[in-house]
Amino acid sequence: MNHDISEPGPRRVGQVKEVTSLTNPIIKDIKALSQKKERDETRSFLAEGLKLVIDALELGWTIKTLVYAKAAKGKPHVEQVALKTIATGGLVLEVSEKVLSAITRRDNPQMVVGVFEQRYANLRDMTPTLGQTFVALDRVRDPGNLGTIIRTADAAGASGVILIGETTDPFSLETVRATMGSVFAMPVMRASVAEFIKWQKATGVQVVATHLAGAVDYRTIDYRRKPVVVLMGNEQAGLPDELAKEATALARIPQQGRADSLNLAIATGIMLFEARRHLLTLDGKA
Ligand code: SAM
Repeated sequence: MNHDISEPGPRRVGQVKEVTSLTNPIIKDIKALSQKKERDETRSFLAEGLKLVIDALELGWTIKTLVYAKAAKGKPHVEQVALKTIATGGLVLEVSEKVLSAITRRDNPQMVVGVFEQRYANLRDMTPTLGQTFVALDRVRDPGNLGTIIRTADAAGASGVILIGETTDPFSLETVRATMGSVFAMPVMRASVAEFIKWQKATGVQVVATHLAGAVDYRTIDYRRKPVVVLMGNEQAGLPDELAKEATALARIPQQGRADSLNLAIATGIMLFEARRHLLTLDGKA
């Protein structure tokens, strides 16, 4: 990539740059963020929708570039977000719908798209306390599953999502879409199997691993005595022995019917809401 999209150019500070051409180099760079290589190199990602962008800014995320459709010009919230972007050294682009469609690869794109700086939390810095719940995902492959899990973890009041081994990218467009904004609220960490086991031992967390051969009904486990990590297996292969044998318990969700297993995101949701059942109230207070 030749152009650093975080770099304010000569016309930019205090101004909005109008772009209509798909061959504009800045637009090309933003479009390239659909590829993981480009996201990794620039440590950037795209998030679509005005609400998401507002939420992200409120949560202290850094916006590198704000892109909005001509039709959104003058809308008070868009203006506010544009001002905030400029104030923090970001770039603001007013573009045609055709350009927005190309960036987001959608026929009916959102009016607003933000390019943000990626952020990972560090597992070694996480010292779980009683009442905290984490989700650990072994080699999660499907972006829709990962996004749904990040959203569900956020809704259940979990404290973070740990990605173990080679996983799908939490900052892909598809994953970010599926998080519905929770990617900005939920700390995401990465770890190898060895790093995860080391952390688990050092912190003394209760690791409840889910397994189709688990001998323990997930509803019989005491989730109150220690901070909990709900450990989930890969969509195809399930949980490997090296992780399963280190777990505090191997839990199973009882099933009936013909299905061999539950979808990973559904199983994670069931586990999370059970593990946090004693902590969740309708008024949102602990
Ligand atoms: N073929 C895989 C296997 O043999 O484990 C199926 C994996 S399943 C689609 C993905 C993950 O969801 C599993 O590794 C487990 O963590 C969780 N899971 C799905 N159904 C479950 C159940 N009934 N009890 C416990 N965990 C379950």
